[in-house]
Amino acid sequence: MPPRQAIFGGTFDPPHAGHVAAAVCAREQLGIDLLHIVVANDPWQKSAERVVTLPHHRLAMARLAFRDVAGTAVSDLEIRRGGPTYTIDTVAQLAQPGAETVLVIGPAAASGVTTWHRAAELAERVTLAVLQSRGEQPIQVDGWRTETVRMEPVDVSATSVRQLLAQSAGREAPPEAAQLVPPAVMSYIVEHRLYSP
Ligand code: ATP
Repeated sequence: MPPRQAIFGGTFDPPHAGHVAAAVCAREQLGIDLLHIVVANDPWQKSAERVVTLPHHRLAMARLAFRDVAGTAVSDLEIRRGGPTYTIDTVAQLAQPGAETVLVIGPAAASGVTTWHRAAELAERVTLAVLQSRGEQPIQVDGWRTETVRMEPVDVSATSVRQLLAQSAGREAPPEAAQLVPPAVMSYIVEHRLYSP
């Protein structure tokens, strides 16, 4: 078996408990020493639809969210590269000769991966590791090597966190949000007044 390297990319706007659980499970199950957590600079499919929080804030929050997760390293590679974020460029930059590159990805993102920039080339270069709840039928994406990372479902999305915080309208963080986001990330959000309308 060739050595493998794994990338967990995202907007992380903000990073939440689902991301942390996913990283722990991926790190345990993929046979890797290090999981690269890569914060997107400009997630062009999302930034066409809504205002995305500035990259330096998302990077700072990701560093706080994953700082206690063994075997992970938060990367600012895509932010330093600048411009629209294309995963194929990240894979090319991180690829080590002879190593297999694994992309850790949620089921919703996996179903859209064929719309990503230079998708055919990406399909040749990576294996998808799709995050799925125990008992769910494994997802296969036609033309892509896929495997499954099993995790207990964590019912949270960054969208739901942003909505919850927007409803609290700049007051104290709502208690529900404290269950969904690591405490250090919540302190950062409050300090920098992110997500209040
Ligand atoms: P948004 O709600 O703004 O679309 P998101 O919560 O999906 O954001 P991203 O940063 O876009 O967060 O996600 C990065 C990766 O984490 C994606 O592959 C996504 O599918 C996956 N992911 C997001 N939420 C969860 C979750 N609760 N459990 C497992 N994986 C998740």
